[in-house]
Amino acid sequence: MIIWMVGFTILLALFLLYAIIPTVFIRRYGLGITKNVRKKGGVALTFDDGPNPEYTSSLLDLLNKYDVKASFFVVGSKVNKNPEIIKRMHEDGHVIGIHHFDHVSSWILSPFQLKKQLDMTEKAITECTKEKVFFYRPPWGHFNIFTPFIGKNYGVIMWSAIFGDWKVDNCRKDLLDRLRATSSEGEILLLHDCGETLGADKEAPLHMIESLEIYLRESKEKGTKFVTLRDI
Ligand SMILES: [Zn+2]
Repeated sequence: MIIWMVGFTILLALFLLYAIIPTVFIRRYGLGITKNVRKKGGVALTFDDGPNPEYTSSLLDLLNKYDVKASFFVVGSKVNKNPEIIKRMHEDGHVIGIHHFDHVSSWILSPFQLKKQLDMTEKAITECTKEKVFFYRPPWGHFNIFTPFIGKNYGVIMWSAIFGDWKVDNCRKDLLDRLRATSSEGEILLLHDCGETLGADKEAPLHMIESLEIYLRESKEKGTKFVTLRDI
């Protein structure tokens, strides 16, 4: 029993040191990460977890309609399944960054696995765009102690506003009101164009896009400026 408890305590301490403490520290003190675009102004729309064959194209249509450029953090395995969407995203002038090859937390990745997740995703994107990748957002905003070293070639982008839009109920309840309540000066908004992630609703992006359309129409009427991460 005592051996079991000692073993458990050691494992817990290692996990805290490897995963939890670096994540809290990096996010709390903003070490090497970007959480807003206040220096530049405007609003940076960012979308995670795609591309999705059902929803990402509709989202690209919507962004085109309002002449808004955005930034997408894509999952490498889905890029390989939907290269045409990534090519269009690039041709439409959006920024494409890394969101791991599988949607897996850095908390459970070894340094070698983390490096592989980044390299494989960059390769998948580059095959479509023929351009280097500059930005990275770790799934769930999770870091491990090696992330600052392994991800040093990328600008790590977090967010200033998150809405729980991966759940249909949240989209229906107040997504539009919460989008309207964000500032037009310096926010990085985090939305999701794929609902296949653990804990998400598959059809949530449909509802997100409905609210986003109204928000974009109103914002354009007010003269809100939309920026991409390339602009910052
Ligand atoms: Zn994600």
